[in-house]
Amino acid sequence: MSQHTPGPWRVGDAGATVFGPKSDKPAPEIVATVKHKANARLIAAAPELYKTVLDEHPHRSRVPSCSTCALLAKVGGTNER
Ligand SMILES: [Zn+2]
Repeated sequence: MSQHTPGPWRVGDAGATVFGPKSDKPAPEIVATVKHKANARLIAAAPELYKTVLDEHPHRSRVPSCSTCALLAKVGGTNER
């Protein structure tokens, strides 16, 4: 898989499974299953966090000394628009 599951993601009722967006498939995609609810909440927020960083980051191309650019590269994202 080269792209992450599109958001929004949500935490299931039991608090340990993160699901992808609602779709017309019979069951939603499972993004992650974790032991701790706090981790599930953090994972579920990832698409929004990622979008916010991309939208608010000032660099239009990768700057080697920038920690945010390095973070975007780490998750396979790009800030080139
Ligand atoms: Zn940067």
